Amino acid sequence: MSTPEPKLNAVEKLKRAKHPLDVWDDILRYASEGYESITEDDFARMRWYGMYRQRPNDGHFMLRLKIPNGAVTAGQAQAVADLAREYARGFADITTRQDFQLHWIRIEDMPEIFCRLEEAGITTTGACGDVTRNVVGCPVAGVDPGEICDASGKVMEVSNFLLGNRDYADLPRKFKISISGCPVRCNQPEINDIGLIAARRGSNGEVGFHVRVGGGLAAEPYLSEWLDMFVLPEQALPVVVGITEIFRDCGYRASRKHARLKFLVADWGPEKFREELIRRIGFSLEPRDRQEEPLDPYRDHIGVHRQKQEGLYWVGIAVPVGRIHADDLETVASLTRRYGDGSIRNTNMQNMLILNVPEGNLPPLCRALDDAGLHHARASQYRRGLIACTGIQFCNLSVVETKARGASILEYLEKNVPISQHIRINVNGCPNSCAQFHIADIGLQGCLARLNGEKVEAFDVSLGGGLGREQAFGRKVLRRVPATEIHEVIRRILEGFESRREPGETFQHFSRRLSDEEMSRLAGATPTEEDPEHEARLITLVASRPESGAAV
Ligand code: SF4
Repeated sequence: MSTPEPKLNAVEKLKRAKHPLDVWDDILRYASEGYESITEDDFARMRWYGMYRQRPNDGHFMLRLKIPNGAVTAGQAQAVADLAREYARGFADITTRQDFQLHWIRIEDMPEIFCRLEEAGITTTGACGDVTRNVVGCPVAGVDPGEICDASGKVMEVSNFLLGNRDYADLPRKFKISISGCPVRCNQPEINDIGLIAARRGSNGEVGFHVRVGGGLAAEPYLSEWLDMFVLPEQALPVVVGITEIFRDCGYRASRKHARLKFLVADWGPEKFREELIRRIGFSLEPRDRQEEPLDPYRDHIGVHRQKQEGLYWVGIAVPVGRIHADDLETVASLTRRYGDGSIRNTNMQNMLILNVPEGNLPPLCRALDDAGLHHARASQYRRGLIACTGIQFCNLSVVETKARGASILEYLEKNVPISQHIRINVNGCPNSCAQFHIADIGLQGCLARLNGEKVEAFDVSLGGGLGREQAFGRKVLRRVPATEIHEVIRRILEGFESRREPGETFQHFSRRLSDEEMSRLAGATPTEEDPEHEARLITLVASRPESGAAV
């Protein structure tokens, strides 16, 4: 009896009909034949080159540029600024995977844009699609005085091996890797498919990596599981490749809903996963001989910080909601050349750092940043910590505005609510959580509601999420808060926190201490009703688990 063919979802079928990396020549052809000539299947395949149809599907693309470890040179930043100005209506977005995204791109302009990116040494290959996405790392790798090792070389090794590699370009879904060399672990190994975390062996102090697998957010969030192993630096690539192969060969392909590694890890458990990995890589791995606890993973890197290199500093710039205008990006590029050594890093909090600034250059650099209106040392806690996904402006899955809303929340809180500690507010347009509402102090998830019979934009509000030492997903405390009053609701929550917190208490602990009822009373939001259309949309969204739009 022959084995029945596995059931495949629609994306699997189009991948088998033509490998998505083979759409390159078609992209060039479509550039001369026009947007209307593009087939639906090729729109999907174009994601493998970082291209996404942007809302409202009127002939424009979002183009995601892959920036491994967030490492950008001044020349690359200048190139992105130039492209943003010429082709993308004057701005770029920094994403939670340390990438850049350009919007408003026309298919006719793609060949020229790809040429210019290639000249600048920037790729879009594998920025979207069922492949390894941008490999994230610590934005201060190599300069952080507290790091265990500089893991940026490992990020580049893994990234370069997987880039455009056809053996790993047809995975069941997107696949995310984080490699961390520092004990703070701000690059979120807990919510990546693979997290390599630098560690010292207890017995002899040797440096290697611990490994986590199967993390992810979206509608069914999972924190990754530890695999009991100690990986030497030279074993890191084979281990990453082995895990990627397990996902490729054993990951679920019948339904997009279950096509992430987290579901396989949940079904197998870490022990079986480890055994399969060892079998595949062909060498054994020592178990972990100790577990290193992470520090508080909140680290925004904003302001002036001493590097491990004598006499050098990095300066972190807070970029509100991750959107940077071409002129500002050009300013950052030119200041980096003038006062640093041309090294820039994007952070996963949608901000930018200028590295390797000699002490004597700090005063003129900081003055120049002030003159340009770029916030650094005195950036408010809100400006440092607020992030927003792409939202309804460009993302087909969004039901609410996010970037503009986030910017207005930021402005309102800066004016009206002084706060004494850091706070992460994450604004998302839908349950896909590209801006990670599950792990925010205050996580906003866009939805629609009925208020006095009218359909309005609204947010579900989760409180108390976090990673590292305090890892937990936020608790959804408020439902369908009208977007027009979200500023005041946040203000009341934060004022309640400031007035009622116990000595030294963090917002996360405070929000866990109060019950849902106490928090709801504090927030004082106007009650709304469910919007039937939204509920139906939500069910479809969760069931079909479409490609998330734009922020990762
Ligand atoms: Fe935002 Fe991502 Fe949802 Fe789009 S898919 S609205 S970018 S969370």
